[in-house]
Amino acid sequence: MSVNVGLDLGSTAIKVVLTEGRKILWHGQTPTAPGQESLAQILTRKGLTELGLTSRDVGQVASTGYGRRLVGFAEKAVDEILANAVGLFELSGRTARHIVNIGGQDVKCISLDEQGRVTDIKMNDKCAAGTGRFFELVARLLDTPVSDFTDLSQAATESITLNSTCVVFAESEIVSLMAKGTKKMDIVKALHESVARRVASMFKYSELNEGLWLDGGPAMNKALVTALADELMTEVFVLDKPQYTVAYGAALCLN
Ligand code: ADP
Repeated sequence: MSVNVGLDLGSTAIKVVLTEGRKILWHGQTPTAPGQESLAQILTRKGLTELGLTSRDVGQVASTGYGRRLVGFAEKAVDEILANAVGLFELSGRTARHIVNIGGQDVKCISLDEQGRVTDIKMNDKCAAGTGRFFELVARLLDTPVSDFTDLSQAATESITLNSTCVVFAESEIVSLMAKGTKKMDIVKALHESVARRVASMFKYSELNEGLWLDGGPAMNKALVTALADELMTEVFVLDKPQYTVAYGAALCLN
């Protein structure tokens, strides 16, 4: 058997996808930490073992993400915008025209033509507001994991607004809301609305007739998806495992 390996070395998580042709056979992730090459290797071996395979079954390896050059055993380093475009376009049934990837430390908006070629890129990597890191900071302040944010937000009863556009000021704003007794669920809903406004400001509304596809780890948060759809007044599509599209795209670039 010949499987290809797609590695996405992200700022927050290392994702691995094992493929045969265009089919995903296995996927797994581990938090990013020092020694990324060996973490990627251990995760790849775990996947191979679970599939009953060994390193002899590996055809080629592609790496992407901001740590893509750290992996000596990868034959190909793929730009992460290209990997995202290729992976999501394929998984969307070749229908996606606009992608928003919210990662641990940046937000990327990628537009595609009907062949899946990248026609436009907008990126916010200067500021943590609107990124996964922002969600994690608020999670720490509220002492609640990000995986609970969907349920919390859906239970909100009062509408409040987070006005700060910078993480440092947003942190003080949230601390003072907590001191005033504002409920966690109302703060979390306001957080989603604030991130949605930030992402929406990267698009012109007229661009989004075909809806947009959200990927990256925060796309697992359904309340964020709803907030974004409301803010942009368009459909927001999310795949079943939205954090693996980039690793999958890297593997497809080997075909
Ligand atoms: P990167 O590729 O930059 O490492 P990811 O696409 O892996 O980033 O996304 C990481 C982010 O995903 C984390 O910062 C975290 O906030 C978010 N995340 C992870 N799991 C969940 C979840 N279950 N619900 C909401 N957000 C999540």
